[in-house]
Amino acid sequence: MEKRISGHTGLMALFGTPVGHSGSPAMYNFSFQHDGLDYAYMAFDVTEEEMPKVFESIRLLNMRGGNFTMPCKNIAAQLVDKLSPAAEIIGACNVFVNDDGVITGHITDGVGFVKNLELNGAPVKDKKVVVLGAGGAATAIQVQCALDGAREITIFNKNDAFFERTLQTAEKIKKAVPDCVVNVYDIDDTAKMTEEIQSSDIFANATIVGMKPLDDQSVVKDLSAFRPGLVVADAVYNPEETKLLREAKEAGCTCVGGKGMLLWQGVAAFKLYTGQDMPVDDVKKLFFS
Ligand code: NAD
Repeated sequence: MEKRISGHTGLMALFGTPVGHSGSPAMYNFSFQHDGLDYAYMAFDVTEEEMPKVFESIRLLNMRGGNFTMPCKNIAAQLVDKLSPAAEIIGACNVFVNDDGVITGHITDGVGFVKNLELNGAPVKDKKVVVLGAGGAATAIQVQCALDGAREITIFNKNDAFFERTLQTAEKIKKAVPDCVVNVYDIDDTAKMTEEIQSSDIFANATIVGMKPLDDQSVVKDLSAFRPGLVVADAVYNPEETKLLREAKEAGCTCVGGKGMLLWQGVAAFKLYTGQDMPVDDVKKLFFS
């Protein structure tokens, strides 16, 4: 690694807090070296309030690109020069690309989710998709599914601080993709949820339920919602197999875990700022097994 860095090496980075646990520096530096790309990737612990200074630094150091994580994804979308269509609808970005001083914000979480489904034999085009959640992951998934041709999207969320955002997301999707039917319901309406899952092709959890320390819980209370042939996906990747996926598997559903979404959002980011393909097979073996 030391030998690889020279006076010409370009800097890329992850910004957010906390970032100390992030696997991104190891994954991207490995990929740069593998592909012979003259970049180095670091992680910087910064708050939302520090983001204007981060953008000054990106410009000053002529950084080619990088990533934003929580809690900086929303403020980043206000500080970039341009937004991709999905980032514009969502109002958040997790990737930036600097083209000669013009910084574009992208969001690849939804792209990673859809790609992961495709690789598991479940393309979203013309499908009815039920998505639980209204946070960062859920919004990205809902918007990308609509942009990629889902026929109908049903959103369930707790009647908490996120609910207003759920309604706003639904309106934004309807405006951007008028052909897509979007409905919003309260997550505590179990009967409605069962009915909606039963009539859907793909069901996804994008809440924090199932993630440690909520790993003894599942968002689905009535297991009669499940049937063989239903695709059940979880954005949660820690633990790798959530209670939701365990119960869905027992009911004969096709299950898709959150690790693939994590991998493929990174692959999409790499392509955006390098223009090249990440060595996915090696990255998978080294960082995702
Ligand atoms: P967030 O904080 O933005 O949103 C949290 C969501 O969970 C909200 O919709 C909230 O209403 C809901 N929620 C909270 N407590 C709940 C409860 N008790 N019952 C039902 N709903 C509840 O979080 P986020 O960034 O969107 O992350 C959500 C999950 O997705 C996390 O587990 C995160 O690790 C995962 N994630 C995965 C990837 C990936 O690449 N696989 C990417 C981003 C996030």
